[in-house]
Amino acid sequence: MAEIQHPQPTVNEETRAYWEGATRGELVLQRCKACKRVQHRPRALCVSCFSDEIEHFVASGRGHVYTCTVTYQNGARGFRDAVPYVLAYVELDEGPRVLANVVGCDPRSVAIGMPVKASFAPPTSAEGYTVPRFTPA
Ligand SMILES: [Zn+2]
Repeated sequence: MAEIQHPQPTVNEETRAYWEGATRGELVLQRCKACKRVQHRPRALCVSCFSDEIEHFVASGRGHVYTCTVTYQNGARGFRDAVPYVLAYVELDEGPRVLANVVGCDPRSVAIGMPVKASFAPPTSAEGYTVPRFTPA
């Protein structure tokens, strides 16, 4: 079973800190300076109070599986050789949920509530970005 080869993300000013952090091996989230809410996906404004006073910080990378599914068929390039694989919503210890793959274990062993930690494979090209994934903690 091969590793998933994700397409490269489209990086813009809202998402640059997240993708650059992931490529360094860090899970970077946003926190609103006004109301302290932590959010993901990255945005220019706080989704809670609409403040534009957003700061980035390195998250713990720890969380648990909120929900998951195992994909057994996917003909798309980069995915077809990696089945079966797990797609999960991981609820981070900081609060937000991240859609990501859970790797490094039997896909059938992944379950709701399972503790996981972020994992970062090197990008596949020099200009590439790393797509975070999770492994059992
Ligand atoms: Zn806010």
